[in-house]
Amino acid sequence: MRATRLVEALPANTPFIGPERLMRENGHTELVRLGANESAFGPSPKAVEAMSAELERLSWYGDPDSFALREALAAKHRCSVEQILVGSGIDDLMGLTVRAFVDIGGGAVAARGTYPTFAYHVAGYGGRLETVPYTNEGEQDLEALAALARRVRPSVLYLANPDNPSGVLVEGERIARFYESLPDETLLLLDEAYADFVAESRLMEPRFEDRLVRVRTFSKAYGLAGARIGYALTTPRNAERFERIRLQYGVNRNAQIGALAALQDDAHLRWVVAETAAALGEYETLARDLGTTTIPSYANFICIDMGEADRATAIVRALLRRGVWVRKPGAPPLDRYIRVSAGTPPMRAAFANALRAALVECVALP
Ligand SMILES: *Cc1c(COP(=O)(O)O)cnc(C)c1O
Repeated sequence: MRATRLVEALPANTPFIGPERLMRENGHTELVRLGANESAFGPSPKAVEAMSAELERLSWYGDPDSFALREALAAKHRCSVEQILVGSGIDDLMGLTVRAFVDIGGGAVAARGTYPTFAYHVAGYGGRLETVPYTNEGEQDLEALAALARRVRPSVLYLANPDNPSGVLVEGERIARFYESLPDETLLLLDEAYADFVAESRLMEPRFEDRLVRVRTFSKAYGLAGARIGYALTTPRNAERFERIRLQYGVNRNAQIGALAALQDDAHLRWVVAETAAALGEYETLARDLGTTTIPSYANFICIDMGEADRATAIVRALLRRGVWVRKPGAPPLDRYIRVSAGTPPMRAAFANALRAALVECVALP
């Protein structure tokens, strides 16, 4: 018995190794979780309360239309309910976008080393991904991406803004010009997982066109990563296309309830954004004290320069041995950095201590 040719040909790897596996493999009973850009500040207490109160009704399916949540999101984004599609996180919506738009053997384009789930889905659905390296400043190279798109005319181009792993923000007007410069047959999948950390005026203006799918999540600023819920902003025509292929009961009922309550707690969101800024400021100071630099970040994590890729890898391992979990970008030129998520003050202190010790250990490397 064999699987499809497509599946048999896929590599066995997954884009993410979770901290639970690292703990099993390294004999840790706890880790300081600063590796997945989860919110260290937790979800809104109002979301927790609403979800707790509804737990007994877990025997019910959620509303397959996510209607109440879409109404609240439509009010937030000043658009219609038909322009919103709810999914079990951006990773799910990204899969739907690739499945809906990239033919088997069809083209897709992204920056090499950006958030990995897009490449994962393109491979999984039999597309052909072409990539462009980051610039030496650690930014996605918009000019090179647009030039590649004009050459290969991909059906989907993926761009994260603010980007992960760099944390770099491209101003909304530049994103709009970039979008307009793409070929007519190319859809822009704009991943705005970190939009909630950025002033709205700096993001691309609202726009609903068939060539544009913007995806947002409750996993980062809203602190609901484990609930698995996010949404796409697009045209009713695209939403209807996703309707044909999405898992109708794929969104957790409890997540719908939590997300709706979280949307109503602006004060919590503002607090998380302020705490995140404080954390990143502290990491910048730490980096300066250690004689190194960071990439200015508009997300809830920051990249700290370790000088060389091998040294960054060694530092990640040395931090893990000390019970601190961070990740590092995989592709040059960002692979000489470690990426650390915003933590609470005790998590930041644990990270700073572990990093100082790791640097002493890894100073002679390689
Ligand atoms: C964290 C992250 C996601 C994952 O979002 P989910 O809604 O949890 O699936 C997607 N894109 C980027 C750029 C991210 O950093």
